[in-house]
Amino acid sequence: MFDVVVIGAGAAGMMCAATAGQRGRRVLLIDHYDVVGEKIRISGGGRCNFTNLHATHRDFLSANPDFCRSALSRYTPRDFIALVEKHGIAWHEKTLGQLFCDESAKQIIEMLKAECAEGGVEWWQPCDVRSVCRDAAGFEIETSRGAVSTKALVIATGGLTVPKIGATPFAYKIAEQFGLPIVAPKPALVPLSFDPDFLARYGELAGVSLDVEASCAGGRFREALLFTHRGLSGPAILQVSSYWQQAGASEPIRINLLPGVEVREWIAAERRSRASLPALLAERWPKRLAQQWGAAHKLELPLAQLGDRAIDDAVRELTEWRVQPSGTLGYNKAEVTLGGVDTRSLSSKTMEATQVPGLHFIGEAVDVTGHLGGFNFQWAWASGYAAGHAV
Ligand SMILES: Cc1cc2nc3c(=O)[nH]c(=O)nc-3n(C[C@H](O)[C@H](O)[C@H](O)COP(=O)(O)OP(=O)(O)OC[C@H]3O[C@@H](n4cnc5c(N)ncnc54)[C@H](O)[C@@H]3O)c2cc1C
Repeated sequence: MFDVVVIGAGAAGMMCAATAGQRGRRVLLIDHYDVVGEKIRISGGGRCNFTNLHATHRDFLSANPDFCRSALSRYTPRDFIALVEKHGIAWHEKTLGQLFCDESAKQIIEMLKAECAEGGVEWWQPCDVRSVCRDAAGFEIETSRGAVSTKALVIATGGLTVPKIGATPFAYKIAEQFGLPIVAPKPALVPLSFDPDFLARYGELAGVSLDVEASCAGGRFREALLFTHRGLSGPAILQVSSYWQQAGASEPIRINLLPGVEVREWIAAERRSRASLPALLAERWPKRLAQQWGAAHKLELPLAQLGDRAIDDAVRELTEWRVQPSGTLGYNKAEVTLGGVDTRSLSSKTMEATQVPGLHFIGEAVDVTGHLGGFNFQWAWASGYAAGHAV
């Protein structure tokens, strides 16, 4: 009989198992995949953007936006930095409070494994979970390595992103089995696809990137946008994709292509010029983009020959370009899953299902989705720590 079984040995599961083990609990950690911590290994371009210095509850989307406050306040980015430093892992801030390993994301995996070892965590991996049943003493779990019973069960199997490295809907199935509601999962922090008409206009710009401000349904981000063969990507688009998805994928996305520039005044100053608008734009944009934009909007004449109406339209298109994606590139390309186990059925302090004592959900499996920039790992650490302290 274990005190705690944690299913899913990713970021949240390892943090939870280590925390519970170091509190003297008898812990078993189970994962079905043959390699430990694959998502950590591929994160942050191989350097793992392991937290964000500025993380607050406002950096997360959820049907219940205040839910994450409690766990985030009890395990902060500073706590994780202290852990990283205890293990002698060198790190740096890249931009916007985003912290990365100097060397490799594998150091974070090794650190979490060492923390689990220090807590005496028993580890079954690879091991398939076949069924979970509740009994008077707790839970009975059938696995490919035999049956095991436990007082507390923590589900840390993540969301649906990147199925080829082990993602499954296990958490949602367990929630369903125990009658807990789910907020419909959707790919988020994901590149957006566009219809053939858009691609005919802008597809040739694949590879071009520029600083923009993108907004949709309450989310607003000033970061880079990247044109791709399928549509749009880059940090600004990934960020806003989560809001677009949350709003039902119907609202247009607004993009200011010249953030921080008084566009009307800038163009007005050149109003009598023989230069064309694309030539003017090429002072601030990649030339290829300026030319393509001018052609797509039929604005290649000298500025002096354009009427007021054409100038008004150009200013609007430059500062409030409205685009309507046709879809996303899906879970294979998404960084995170929006939605998950409905937080209204969980305790924000312990992550325990209020109607099912002993059953906890942590990490990406829960309907708490961070912005791009280290926030999703911070949620994994904080929710894992909260449950690890409660079990
Ligand atoms: C390419 C990429 C880059 C990313 N980069 C960053 C970044 O730099 N910073 C950041 O904050 N976030 C990043 N993320 C998001 C971050 O990786 C996740 O939010 C985080 O890993 C979630 O942690 P988790 O423990 O909840 O789930 P996961 O890390 O996904 O772990 C879930 C574990 O459960 C196991 N599992 C699944 N199903 C079962 C089952 N049926 N039985 C047993 N075990 C199962 C899986 O094998 C896995 O080990 C990135 C994501 C991707 C895809």
